[in-house]
Amino acid sequence: MPNRETIFALSSGAVPAGLAIVRISGEDVPAVLAALIGELPSSRQAVLRSIRSRNGLVLDTGLVLFFPAPHSFTGENVAELHLHGGRAVVDALYRELAEFPNLRPAAAGEFSRRAFESGKLDLIEVEGLADLIAAETEMQRRLAVEQSSGGLSSIYYGWSERLTRARALIEAELDFPDEEDVPGSVSDQVWADVSSLAEELASHLEQLEAGEIIRDGFKVVIAGRPNAGKSSLMNALAKRDVAIVTDIAGTTRDVLQVDLSVDGYLVKLYDTAGLRDTDEIVEREGIRRAEKIITEADLLIFVEDLSTVTATDEPPESAVLVGTKSDLPRRSMREYDLLISTEDGAGLDELRGLIVQRLKQKVHPQSMAIPSRARHREALARSLAALRASLLAPSRGLDLRAEDLRAAGDALGRVTGRVDVENLLDIIFGEFCIGK
Ligand code: GDP
Repeated sequence: MPNRETIFALSSGAVPAGLAIVRISGEDVPAVLAALIGELPSSRQAVLRSIRSRNGLVLDTGLVLFFPAPHSFTGENVAELHLHGGRAVVDALYRELAEFPNLRPAAAGEFSRRAFESGKLDLIEVEGLADLIAAETEMQRRLAVEQSSGGLSSIYYGWSERLTRARALIEAELDFPDEEDVPGSVSDQVWADVSSLAEELASHLEQLEAGEIIRDGFKVVIAGRPNAGKSSLMNALAKRDVAIVTDIAGTTRDVLQVDLSVDGYLVKLYDTAGLRDTDEIVEREGIRRAEKIITEADLLIFVEDLSTVTATDEPPESAVLVGTKSDLPRRSMREYDLLISTEDGAGLDELRGLIVQRLKQKVHPQSMAIPSRARHREALARSLAALRASLLAPSRGLDLRAEDLRAAGDALGRVTGRVDVENLLDIIFGEFCIGK
């Protein structure tokens, strides 16, 4: 594309730091390098050079790399300048770069967007890269690596090829119904393959919940009456004071949340307002929020103070019923799944173990090549629906069934970004930080 602006950004972390890596991408990179270091270094080889302003002052000395198009991250000419990571050093280079016509600072995600536009990365890989940069737990990292390195995409490309082949065979049958080399049984083979493809897609889609839990976290919600010991439990599990603990009922009025890394998985722990009837307006809003998050929980821990006899609540069947304050004399006759005390620590290890066990019941991926976003779900579900439609009511005729296969292929193409996704790009690339 002629006259496309050349972009630059700090691609390493915040300064001050040991190093600051500034990345430049675009047509003008050779001219910029020639001006800054007096020559164009050999391709893809680090060279140590003084980086100078245009009136010859040394800005800094550091490693310089040049990646000529198309063999670069963006597919354009790319340079990396490894400077000392001081604020003034980076500022000086930025001022110098801004002097070049046709150069400007990059927007968030713009390098990745150029990589996508030049076909270096597909959308799944781009999303995987955003996830890899954001990954905080080991399992998030593994999921993101699989996605960013093309492992997940290759499944979709394989399916797309099978669909294309199926359509080609059907077209042949439509065009040459009586030809000898396209016997009727070809059609049977095609539909057998479409049917097994539908099964594969359906079981792939079933993995989405696991993918979402790995990516977005396993939601554990602590609920119960006021003063049951919810906030104390939250603090004990988080091993720090996240929530205010008092013996005044109704202290927690909003949903509090803390991230834990448990066995490499992200666990999102929520403490909620105590459930009771109240006229107090703020507390009522807190209870409304509590009820909402309870419905979204992957695991509900329903706590009850066993030292007081309260009206027995009936938590949902899937909830773990925990009796709290086991260090105090027991007055409740109820059967609990687990007894705990945040006072003496009893039962807390068991509760942690139980959270891990419940998590692993939901997430036991054979492979990390699994979908993990609502966007994937929508497109894959559409593809599956079209595949199933093509198998239903064969009497509708081959041309209509072939049309279903085309729709199934288009939906798959939207997942990888091979098919018209222009309207999604701003959302997807907006997730990135500047410099990526
Ligand atoms: P929440 O309203 O359900 O969040 O309950 P809190 O965590 O704020 O606890 C209410 C009161 O019970 C506070 O005074 C806590 O100190 C006390 N408490 C909480 N857990 C325990 C426990 O395991 N043993 C004893 N003895 N007291 C507890």
